Amino acid sequence: MEYSLHAALAGNPNSGKSTVFNALTGSRQHVGNYPGITVEKKDGVAKLAGKSIFITDLPGTYSLTAYSQEELVARRTLVEERPDVVINIIDSGALSRNLYLTVQLLEMGAPLALGLNMLDELPAKGISIDVKRLGRLLGCPATGTVARNNKGLNELLMNAQDIAEQRRGKPWEPLKISYGSDLDPVIEQMTALIEQNCFLTGKYPARWTAIKYLEADEEILALGSDENSEVAACLQEMYERVSRHLKTTLDTYPEAVIADYRYGFISSVLRNGVVTQRDELAWRASLSDKIDTVLTNTFLGPLIMGGIIYLIYKLTFLLGEAPLGYLESFFGWLGETVGGILGEGALSSLLVDGVIGGVGAVLGFAPLIMVIFMLIAILEDSGYMARMAYMLDRIFRYFGLHGNTVMPFIISGGIAGGCAVPGVMATRTLRSPKEKLASMLTAPLFACGAKLPVFLLICAVFFPQNADLVMFLITVGAWALALLVARLLRSTVLRGDATPFVMELPPYRMPTLKGVLLHMWERTWAYVRKAGTIILAVTIVIWAGLSYPKLPAEMSASYAEQRTRIEAELAADKSAMEEALAELDNQEAQDTLRHSYAGRMGVGLEPVSQYAGFDWRANLALIGGFAAKEVVVSTLGTAYSLGEVDPEDAGNLQAEIKADPSWNIAVGISFIIFVLIYAPCFPTLAVIKQEASWGWMIFATVFNTGLAFALSVIAYQLLHRILIL
Ligand code: GDP
Ligand code: MG
Repeated sequence: MEYSLHAALAGNPNSGKSTVFNALTGSRQHVGNYPGITVEKKDGVAKLAGKSIFITDLPGTYSLTAYSQEELVARRTLVEERPDVVINIIDSGALSRNLYLTVQLLEMGAPLALGLNMLDELPAKGISIDVKRLGRLLGCPATGTVARNNKGLNELLMNAQDIAEQRRGKPWEPLKISYGSDLDPVIEQMTALIEQNCFLTGKYPARWTAIKYLEADEEILALGSDENSEVAACLQEMYERVSRHLKTTLDTYPEAVIADYRYGFISSVLRNGVVTQRDELAWRASLSDKIDTVLTNTFLGPLIMGGIIYLIYKLTFLLGEAPLGYLESFFGWLGETVGGILGEGALSSLLVDGVIGGVGAVLGFAPLIMVIFMLIAILEDSGYMARMAYMLDRIFRYFGLHGNTVMPFIISGGIAGGCAVPGVMATRTLRSPKEKLASMLTAPLFACGAKLPVFLLICAVFFPQNADLVMFLITVGAWALALLVARLLRSTVLRGDATPFVMELPPYRMPTLKGVLLHMWERTWAYVRKAGTIILAVTIVIWAGLSYPKLPAEMSASYAEQRTRIEAELAADKSAMEEALAELDNQEAQDTLRHSYAGRMGVGLEPVSQYAGFDWRANLALIGGFAAKEVVVSTLGTAYSLGEVDPEDAGNLQAEIKADPSWNIAVGISFIIFVLIYAPCFPTLAVIKQEASWGWMIFATVFNTGLAFALSVIAYQLLHRILIL
């Protein structure tokens, strides 16, 4: 089919690009609120006055640097497909941030049409924009739109078509902006050199390549040395010279200067009568500044941040505890009722010990998780999280991470309970692939909601007086560990430079109920979904592994025989008989468990696991925990209750562990360390695979498990052999 025009849609995430694309092409596509939802390229066809226009929906990006896959994809599409026109969708409510991309598109020289979207939201923000004036100042047609209501889209398309027609067949016209007295001469020199040698000029405008060299753009540097290594070396030389100069004179680097001048250019355009803001908003902005002088103060800031984190920690347990209790007793009751109806037997055992026990353990923690995610959503939506990122950036940087890693860490359990599944997803906001990977690989090291029950159990057994303190130490330990591991990764497998901190601090806002609930729900759902899928499957497998094969017939017969003998011998002394019978039953149950597939596996691992102090039952629980950490406690429960004779006592796991001589404080601590660190659960691994690769997924499993085992062995040997705990 012939198209009269090829257009590409560009814009920041959440600017309404997908909404425009859908309205124009009528194609179906997911419209959501998550940044970067359009990761792949989408095409469609729009009709305008009988002509058909081919439209490519580029990934949403804030910039055209080489920091993220999205940016690279967007850039390559523009260069390789050379669309007749680029339609840049802009969130008018965040004009200066959105124009950062626009400036870079103009610098590439593509024919550009601007769609100033979300105009309907401006009155509430107290802003008004002179759309035509903006277009005149930037030298490209600008159209106001409200994509959600289909307003202005036809006009936008018409303007795009006009500019495409005007510029058809002519070379692209890159915008030149000044980068100041330090860089401008260098850019001129570089551009001249590039033009003389026709260096990459088939694809990129000369000046653009020069700027990319100053931004140390990895992709262009690689392309450049392939194209002509001599010229590339010369450009690199120029870059290094000016870098050194900027470092000594201004203590900055070219990339930062370039970003500053781009923003300077944008603000000069905006101040030129494009944007008018009502006074009350200026007041709100300055109020934000005033609040910030306190909240991000060098001394007060961290103190307040510590206080807020502590408050969240307290609130979580305060608000989450009651529902936790209700749900626990509900699942207890459900188990008893189902058990009562079904009586004894395989099905009953499967449902009660397996399904209700395992899934119940997960759902029981849902309220706690929900509360923590609600509080996190409030931090996020109010704008405070951005301040935390800002304050922690300097510390994080030392460990090779970025301030924005705060979010993934806190969501993964950095405060108290959380979930690494949405935590790993939240690393999407990081622009540098290496920083993103380092954050992704360390986020599962926190005490997520699934590990909490394990820790609480061990605390209840060995540290009943100091559970609070131990939980606090675990949280602090997890932070220290995550940061150290990040540092290790960033200086070995993930070596590379840090990204400058380029996040703007949004003004403080009152969070809306709807926004908070939505954020909370998305993340809680990721957690709850585990219960219905992976954990259900794993508990059934583990239950079967623990229940089969049954003891061989001759052994059962031998037990039956002994039983009859005891009954005959001790018929006179009833209490002695009961005691002896109970002892025998217990032994049979133990034998049955050890004989099962899972039991044999646990026993088989003992020669290795003994160095960390784990017996076969602990091994079993830990094997189950590879799938999901929730399974650790429920497997221990199943292992002890299947081996338990008196149903009255079954389920009182704490008492069982306390009575079991193979557990002691040293084992407990070693167990906590292992559970905290070893392989991320299956759902987290799935997200790591999706966000990174199979290779990194395997790395996370092997590395974390190895580290966990090493630290557990050290802790156990130290505590048990040397301190004799
Ligand atoms: P994308 O990330 O750029 O693809 O953005 P989407 O098309 O997914 O839009 C993000 C959100 O903004 C969605 O909730 C849209 O419904 C909403 N949205 C899109 N256009 C407008 C608009 O003109 N006005 C308002 N108020 N909301 C809009
Ligand atoms: Mg989209």
